[in-house]
Amino acid sequence: MHLYDVYRNPLVAGEENVNYEDAKKIVIDALSIMGENYVSKLKEAMDNRWIDVYEKENKRTGAYSMGVFGVHPYILLNFINSSRDISTLAHELGHSMHSYYADTTQDIFNSNYTIMVAEVASTVNEILLANYQIKNEKNDLKKAFLINEQLDMFRATLFRQTMFAEFEKIVHERIEAGESLTSDNLNEIYYDLVKKYFGDITINDEDIKYEWARIPHFYSNFYVYKYATGITSAIVIASKILQKEEGFVDKYIEMLSKGGSIDSLDLLKSVGVDLEKSETYDIAFEYFKENLEELKKLL
Ligand SMILES: [Zn+2]
Repeated sequence: MHLYDVYRNPLVAGEENVNYEDAKKIVIDALSIMGENYVSKLKEAMDNRWIDVYEKENKRTGAYSMGVFGVHPYILLNFINSSRDISTLAHELGHSMHSYYADTTQDIFNSNYTIMVAEVASTVNEILLANYQIKNEKNDLKKAFLINEQLDMFRATLFRQTMFAEFEKIVHERIEAGESLTSDNLNEIYYDLVKKYFGDITINDEDIKYEWARIPHFYSNFYVYKYATGITSAIVIASKILQKEEGFVDKYIEMLSKGGSIDSLDLLKSVGVDLEKSETYDIAFEYFKENLEELKKLL
């Protein structure tokens, strides 16, 4: 397997069509574990035109959520009835609920959450949805498809973004040490990291050394590591929700309600996520391992 083979079709096929009405039901059922207050807000968003659902001429692509202080959040989707669109809906609603709780609790100066916690609420929702779908899927191949999606998210978000972060760290250190950087240096640093992270598992063709040049995030300082810390935090939080830890959902909603009023690391500590401890990352890797074992069994 060459590295570029990772971008081939999913390892397990299982893509299904789903219409928007069904997607809404699935998301609400999957997130019902968050309790009545949260679900009533989801329904409010769905029933009161917070979401622009379908593609149309001249509409921008992709999906995002935007909080509007004093009004309510808005979501842009480009829903094309694919099963991937269900997780996008759950993801963007995670952002919107975060904005909603923060905007209605904090003043305008403290309502905006930091990038450090921005992808936590959205990823928590994606994991809760995946867990719900995997649990309720009777067909082994479809179940394998869903699990593979989780593994792929982990690879792309935790593993690969950490490699990116290490690249960025090395580059900045060289500049700080007064050394100069050439494209050859950057290629070499990148290629060494690919070999370090992927080892003998993939064939690491030399051309991959140019890949850094096409990653737009490197032009904003130290952005990429937040993907890795975000998904790690989300896995820990989602596990606590799924284990129905006493009073945890309320604690989590309280964390969302704090917006940007306190330091990001302290905010995450308030829901039991300590990003300065290696055990936190062990929980994330355990999640990967469990899913991998399950996939092996199913295949
Ligand atoms: Zn997002």
